[in-house]
Amino acid sequence: MRRGLALLLCALALVPAAAATRAPAYRETTTTYPVRGTTLARLRAGINGGPQGYAAYTRWFVKWNYDYGGSSSRCVLSSSTVNLRVVFTYPSWKDRAKASPALRARWDRFMRALKLHENGHKQNGVRAARDVNALLGRAGSAGSCTALGASVNRRADAAIARWAGADKTYDARTDHGTTQGAIL
Ligand SMILES: [Zn+2]
Repeated sequence: MRRGLALLLCALALVPAAAATRAPAYRETTTTYPVRGTTLARLRAGINGGPQGYAAYTRWFVKWNYDYGGSSSRCVLSSSTVNLRVVFTYPSWKDRAKASPALRARWDRFMRALKLHENGHKQNGVRAARDVNALLGRAGSAGSCTALGASVNRRADAAIARWAGADKTYDARTDHGTTQGAIL
């Protein structure tokens, strides 16, 4: 259950205003891919053929914006916003109604564990967004807005890389959710 990320940033024009840091905005989307069959073997084949080669996966995206303010000799961030978007992809079992109660129960256990695992990835995105938000809030000032922007973006990139690394560690530690029961 791999995760991926992308980031976007933009610096807006000089706008003198009081510094303001809001909590990151959050948006979550879930997409599914179909899995068919009424036997364990078919279900296993279905999730092994998931879109990214995993039964499920989570992507998170952190986007930040800020405005510049200050004087001609000192640049500060006047305001900033951070947006976190999380996209989950899960299997959707289309033949559930035709399957045995035992197989349904097995699938349900699997899906619960899978969601537990993917939520762990989401939490790393939440932490990344929080860190970016915090560093924007304490961005300080610089002699030029170019320098300030570069510094902020470098630190934000580092925060995201840190939590992307945490996603990898999490997958290694849980064997992509297997130790959490995400195995069918
Ligand atoms: Zn994973």
